Amino acid sequence: MIVGRPFLTVDQIQKKVRDLADSISTDYGNKNLLAVGILKGAFVFYSDLVRMIRVPLMVDFILASSYVKSNTSGEVKVMHDITADVTDKDVLLVEDIVDTGITLNYIRERMLMKEPRSLRICTFLDKKERREVEVPLDYVGYSIPNEFVVGYGLDYDNKFRNLPYISVFKKRT
Ligand code: 5GP
Repeated sequence: MIVGRPFLTVDQIQKKVRDLADSISTDYGNKNLLAVGILKGAFVFYSDLVRMIRVPLMVDFILASSYVKSNTSGEVKVMHDITADVTDKDVLLVEDIVDTGITLNYIRERMLMKEPRSLRICTFLDKKERREVEVPLDYVGYSIPNEFVVGYGLDYDNKFRNLPYISVFKKRT
């Protein structure tokens, strides 16, 4: 297994997180922001992002995992859900990467059933060409090609999440 050179460097990551946080701070000035991190992958991005947002916010988390049952359908399991009442909240879902869109679509629909005052989505990475289910993305860090990446919270087999940069992961053949 090989983790290559940085695909996105620490500097590139931090600059993009600041840009996203600036946009969110502008948009949520008069709102009741609840930032919901989707674990595990988003934990690093989420903690950087909320510390750069300059408006008051509350935090909450969803722990979800998805696994592919066949080539075309995935199943999502929520192991921990938010604890907050969202009916008076402007919810921002914070995700690390959107691939097929199946995970985020499931989480979005589940959140909409709780009837938040508003709902938006922020993802650090977007692998558009892999999309199977359309999900509206309001804040996107980087659109990336169809490569498997690790680092900055993203794992392979629950490893590499602590790399401070993002790298393309390749299996040695
Ligand atoms: P989905 O296909 O439902 O959009 O994405 C499901 C999950 O697969 C993501 O939340 C993420 O945990 C994982 N995933 C998708 N693409 C990648 C990738 O390139 N690298 C890593 N480490 N995980 C990925």
